Amino acid sequence: MKNSTRIDELKATGRLPSPTGVALAVLRLTQDPNVTVEQLADVLKCDPALSGRILKHANTSAAYDGCPAVSVTEAAIRIGVYRSSQIALGFSLLSRYRNNPCRKFDYESFWSYSLATAVCAQGLSRAIASANEGEAFSMGLLCQIGRLALATIHPDRYSAVLDAAGASQEAQLCGLEREEFALDHNELTAAMLEDWGLPAVFVEAARCQEDPAGSGLDRASLDFRLATLLHMARHMADICRAEEAFRPPLRSALRAHAEEMNLDPEAAAEMLETAAGEWRRISRLLGIPTTKADDEKLALGGQGGERPDPEPKDHERMRILIVDDDPALLDFIGALLRHEGHEVEAASDAETALRRALEANPHFIVTDWVMPGMTGIQLCKALRQSEQTKSIYVIMLTACEDESHLVEAFDAGADDYVVKPFNPRAFLARVRAARRIVNLQEQVARDKEEIKHYAAELSVANRKLERAALTDPLTGLANRRYALDRLEQEWNTAVRYARPIACMIVDIDHFKAVNDTHGHDVGDRVLQQTAQLLRENVRKSDVVCRFGGEEFLVICKDTNLQGVRTVAEHIRTKVEGTPFEVAGVTGYVKVSIGVAVRSTAAASTKLLLKAADGALYAAKARGRNRTCVAQ
Ligand code: GH3
Ligand code: MG
Ligand code: MG
Repeated sequence: MKNSTRIDELKATGRLPSPTGVALAVLRLTQDPNVTVEQLADVLKCDPALSGRILKHANTSAAYDGCPAVSVTEAAIRIGVYRSSQIALGFSLLSRYRNNPCRKFDYESFWSYSLATAVCAQGLSRAIASANEGEAFSMGLLCQIGRLALATIHPDRYSAVLDAAGASQEAQLCGLEREEFALDHNELTAAMLEDWGLPAVFVEAARCQEDPAGSGLDRASLDFRLATLLHMARHMADICRAEEAFRPPLRSALRAHAEEMNLDPEAAAEMLETAAGEWRRISRLLGIPTTKADDEKLALGGQGGERPDPEPKDHERMRILIVDDDPALLDFIGALLRHEGHEVEAASDAETALRRALEANPHFIVTDWVMPGMTGIQLCKALRQSEQTKSIYVIMLTACEDESHLVEAFDAGADDYVVKPFNPRAFLARVRAARRIVNLQEQVARDKEEIKHYAAELSVANRKLERAALTDPLTGLANRRYALDRLEQEWNTAVRYARPIACMIVDIDHFKAVNDTHGHDVGDRVLQQTAQLLRENVRKSDVVCRFGGEEFLVICKDTNLQGVRTVAEHIRTKVEGTPFEVAGVTGYVKVSIGVAVRSTAAASTKLLLKAADGALYAAKARGRNRTCVAQ
């Protein structure tokens, strides 16, 4: 990697491990006019969140050509060096997280683990044919991004989940996440990859990576191979990150795993060594600690190289456009500014300057006042009118310092002025002052971009979480939590407008026998089919929810006793008359229904539900397959 020396320098600045390190590396790279998009992608692809951003941009923007990019290099080639680096620079993710971090989430180890998984996945891609190296790398890097999202969206709740998972994190975590968020990090990862425009195979593989063998995927499918690749890559990443004492058992498990996958265990062990070496190398380049020993080395200043200036000067450098009809003055100012390290472009008239300002987007303009054709004042006014140029810092050169003159310059939009003939030292001091403002402006603009993008991204994850929390995964109906909230809401509306409201509890008769006779899977399908029948046979305004195991709640607003009884009987006869056919089994189920309406006796949602439940009990007691009304 040609850029290694540059990154080495960076690492030695002591800015330790975070995607900010990546952003800095990108900043360095983009200073080099000959940087290639591949070099840039080499750095970008090491940051999970950033990779997601770049992929999303390539797959959803105008750059999208109908064939989704999965590797960051491919994505970066499509959107180009400039846009890629812009995205990277506008996005120092971890610095954001630190505002409200998830206490129990170890961001650094997350990043390091992701990187190790990426490198191992890349190595495995040669042995498990499923994706090319670049794709495998980005999948390895991104396959745990759901954890980062959970830690970010719910820092406190996720801390509690991680606490509860304790030492046996892997084994327990998904279950605990589902309990808390109704969605585990693998499902969330899949949702985010989908949102980033990745093809379905990759989304599916991410979803099933925890247990490819138990996921039900066809063993010959690409999805399965890719899920297995990720699973093994994570296993290898664990070995990379484990302390030496813990490695032997992990290594023998890996061998067994490889054999199971028809891979040569020797080759797998070798691959692991190569990948571990590669991972350490990249980690060193980016200043991420790999093991305790490395931590210490890094803390002592990396590879023992010299520490350059702790504050790189690059961000102080500006693109400056100077405008004057006097060539001698142009030369003089140009030389002064170049000597300070700035990038200078000269224009001999204001029209040219305006055009260049739009094209080259300079940080800052020094312009003469009086020029043939367009004057400095006119230039200033024109600049302030365009969105693109309105915040460029302008210093006006003026021949006199009287008040009315200055007022005119400031009114036209100048930020500062310098009186000719000028003292070079004073002039440069003003340039430095301008630079501080420009830097601040850029920082603000970057932060705004970053927050905007990041918020958009998390809102996807957030929506998924919200929806998942309120949906029953088996039937797709709203769940009990939703049902109770919704009932409360509809109840309040009914009370306010003095409207009737009713509900029914529908319970499948002898459902246990279905499970006992045909198995749980058939039972599940029967529940799904019953849910669908309910949905199809209520009115549009009724709300159907899965209330418990084989129990459904239907909320019927604006409905009196007569109405709800009719709907209930309609449902009951529909269920009774519709056979289920599952896995070669044909049969029928019946339901008992308890209905209740708002009344003086049922004067709260709690009492309404209690009344419906009592009626259901009565229906069961009287022989089932019937509707009973609460007394
Ligand atoms: P009753 O007519 O009195 O309602 O009898 P029942 O057998 O329907 O009622 P019981 O409450 O005894 O049993 C309900 C059964 O529903 C037991 C439970 O295993 C099963 N069940 C609950 N949730 C699910 C599920 O998600 N899938 C499957 N397959 N079965 C479930
Ligand atoms: Mg039942
Ligand atoms: Mg029941």
